[in-house]
Amino acid sequence: MTSQAFQDDRAHVFHSWSAQRALAPAVVVGGEGAWFWTEDDTRYLDFSSQLVNLNMGHQHPRVVAAIQEQAAALCTVAPSFGNAARSEAARLIADLAPGDLSHVFFTNGGTEANEHAVRMARLATGRHKILAAYRSYHGATTGSITLTGDPRRWPNEPAMPGVVRFFGPYPYRSPFHAESEAQESERALAHLDEVFTLEGPQTIAAVILETVVGTNGILVPPDGYLAGVRELCDRHGVLLICDEVMSGFGRCGEWFAVDRWNVAPDLITFAKGVNSGYVPLGGVVLGPRVYETFAERAYPGGLTYSGHPLACAAAVATINAMKDEGINERVRRLGEEVVRPRLAKLQERHPSVGDVRGLGLFWAIELVKDRATREMLVPYNAAGEAAKPMLEVAAACKAQGVWPFTHFNRLHVVPPCVTTEKDLSNGLDVIDDALDVADRYY
Ligand code: PLP
Repeated sequence: MTSQAFQDDRAHVFHSWSAQRALAPAVVVGGEGAWFWTEDDTRYLDFSSQLVNLNMGHQHPRVVAAIQEQAAALCTVAPSFGNAARSEAARLIADLAPGDLSHVFFTNGGTEANEHAVRMARLATGRHKILAAYRSYHGATTGSITLTGDPRRWPNEPAMPGVVRFFGPYPYRSPFHAESEAQESERALAHLDEVFTLEGPQTIAAVILETVVGTNGILVPPDGYLAGVRELCDRHGVLLICDEVMSGFGRCGEWFAVDRWNVAPDLITFAKGVNSGYVPLGGVVLGPRVYETFAERAYPGGLTYSGHPLACAAAVATINAMKDEGINERVRRLGEEVVRPRLAKLQERHPSVGDVRGLGLFWAIELVKDRATREMLVPYNAAGEAAKPMLEVAAACKAQGVWPFTHFNRLHVVPPCVTTEKDLSNGLDVIDDALDVADRYY
């Protein structure tokens, strides 16, 4: 007997990224911290953080209370008015941002933030080309899906003109045949320099990249790479946009992942972790180059819900709770002391584990059919649909009460930043068992 919620879902909800007919979504009714539960009273340890979103876990009391208080005072106000929740959120975010970034343009999520960052960069430079990386994801609206460098772009082409693609570093599958991280960084920078030259630097408005690549495999840039990109951009008057929608606000054990390498972009886009996704919120943090462009003339863009009070109140509470709970230090410690050594053991034990990599609570286990050739356990496909072996690995995790995040041939370890050390360790035990399923396809 299925519930009314399930029946209504199947009859009327059209789901993202999915073939509709065979879907059978778990109906979630509650959550607390790193756990959520479904209508049949099954509890799951959330190793997906709901699309790497819920950094402070389910139902954080301070964030819930802030939303309730704001709702009681004022639910909404148009962006042209001032509002204390919005201005406090902007101040907190600008104070945390590196370099001379000083102002925040609020959006409803990550894809809109990237759309606006591109628009700002084009208008501020008077140039039109945007260099975007292969193996990136920047969102699902027309511009951002064009920036995206993975198969999710294919069915949506052609879309926004003016995007030119380049390869970023990926030591495990080096496009540059490098033999060390330092060499990978050096060659990736030489390649980008060549792209600049061949495209004509005077036509390039911005380079956009994910500081740490998220859904395309948690690719942590080698030391020196981001500083090198910054230097190339400076040399040619090109703006650097760092997409921190997934990597920001605690996920990498930093407010912004760029802080780890002390690099200051011209624009940072954010969403997700800024308020743990409790109310949709994203934005662009911008500095003088963009600000001054629009100091005396109108910025031609806006959103009805920009800086929505409920979303901003949730952001203020989230950021303050993160500070008080020392989340960044905690995430760095758990990443280095718990996750890194455990994943190294999994790699020793399971032949199908080709590579493990990450930082903070942002890790990927890359599965292969053959360690020598590095053939992917499952191939890329345009729809992004999970292939049978990955569905089986995911099912094995769920059967033991862990909700995993899988993408193509990878299992990502991305639990909420508030996960207890014991739960984290138990979750990794479950993944260890589930990888036996992947080994059968090896
Ligand atoms: N940028 C990155 C790096 C992301 O991971 C995502 C979503 O996962 C987006 C942008 C798009 O964000 P949204 O889904 O909020 O539009």
